[in-house]
Amino acid sequence: MQPFEYTSPKTKEQVPALLGNSWGEVEILAGGTDLLSLMKDYVTTPRRLVNIKGIQDLHAVNFNPDGSVRIGALKTLAELAETPELQKSHPMLAHAVGDAASPQIRNQATLGGNLCQRPRCWYFRTGYGLLAKDKDGKSLVPNGDNRYHAILGNEGPAYFVSPSTVAPVLIAYQAKVRILGPQGIRELPLEKFFLVPRAEQEREHDLQPNEVVIEVVVPPARQVHAAAYEVRQKEAFDWPYATAAVALTMNGNTVSNARVVLGHVAPIPWLSPEAAQALTGKPLTPATADQAAQAAVAKAKSMGRNAQKIQLARVAVKRAILKAGGVA
Ligand SMILES: Cc1cc2nc3c(=O)[nH]c(=O)nc-3n(C[C@H](O)[C@H](O)[C@H](O)COP(=O)(O)OP(=O)(O)OC[C@H]3O[C@@H](n4cnc5c(N)ncnc54)[C@H](O)[C@@H]3O)c2cc1C
Ligand code: SF4
Repeated sequence: MQPFEYTSPKTKEQVPALLGNSWGEVEILAGGTDLLSLMKDYVTTPRRLVNIKGIQDLHAVNFNPDGSVRIGALKTLAELAETPELQKSHPMLAHAVGDAASPQIRNQATLGGNLCQRPRCWYFRTGYGLLAKDKDGKSLVPNGDNRYHAILGNEGPAYFVSPSTVAPVLIAYQAKVRILGPQGIRELPLEKFFLVPRAEQEREHDLQPNEVVIEVVVPPARQVHAAAYEVRQKEAFDWPYATAAVALTMNGNTVSNARVVLGHVAPIPWLSPEAAQALTGKPLTPATADQAAQAAVAKAKSMGRNAQKIQLARVAVKRAILKAGGVA
């Protein structure tokens, strides 16, 4: 690991000034479950780490009378999974954080770190950069081993898949993320937080190098029927092949509103208006779930070795819809 400076601010207001003006110089350290492995492999070589774990107000979780919840960025996945109020108010979220990774990692990993974790693309992880280019500047992915890579939004230049299994669930719940920078706090819908990088120096999200995620706000979900489905290689501590998170508002057996979000299929969590449209105004039946699942992957394209992911994503969407509607 390359030597680095280490600093531990005690308040969130101190953080922006300690961060850098370009990516790579300074990294925020939360649970370290992702960052430290990148540093050990020299994929990330910051000259300074800003350890935010000593900032007490980022560890808070507050349940509001209207049913919404504000979750501090440093809340660990294990703490969230074991919070009875969350299991009641947002069961799909409590389940997703309790299902990610292993018990040891969940005890250490934070919600903010989960949303900002870097892609698992093996070209990125072995030092070819975020856009996986060879020495001539050509991406290695389209003609390479792309069996886990994107099937949607894969026109390039990024081909990796967004790694968080929690983000699609939060987006289905219409969560917002609160970000602190030198100019103060800004808030944006979580689906707008994730971006496809166009250049090697960019990141997979809307953060500036001197900004920090401080909180996630999840709206009330009392009237929402929600469920997620993950297709995994096997029951092991690993990232899935494809996931789907679905939040439905029902009027009797008719879907009045739907949000369908796919995970591990694109460089960003993939909100599918096509699937939502296929459900809205329809009775929830296996046939409508199937049509919505077909719509979700209608634009998916294999890169050569990942055609199986199209079928897996379709199945994940169909099963999540049926589970959300209580049909499965
Ligand atoms: C074996 C294994 C299996 C896993 N399986 C899953 C899975 O199924 N689903 C899943 O979602 N994840 C999975 N993970 C990933 C795990 O959830 C993440 O590593 C973890 O959530 C990262 O959180 P952290 O606090 O440790 O982040 P860190 O490692 O400290 O940071 C990760 C990145 O986020 C940045 N960062 C951290 N906090 C903030 C903040 N508040 N604001 C801005 N930037 C920040 C850091 O600078 C760094 O770039 C798995 C990990 C392992 C090792
Ligand atoms: S058991 Fe293995 S995968 Fe899990 S935290 Fe320990 S070293 Fe990591």
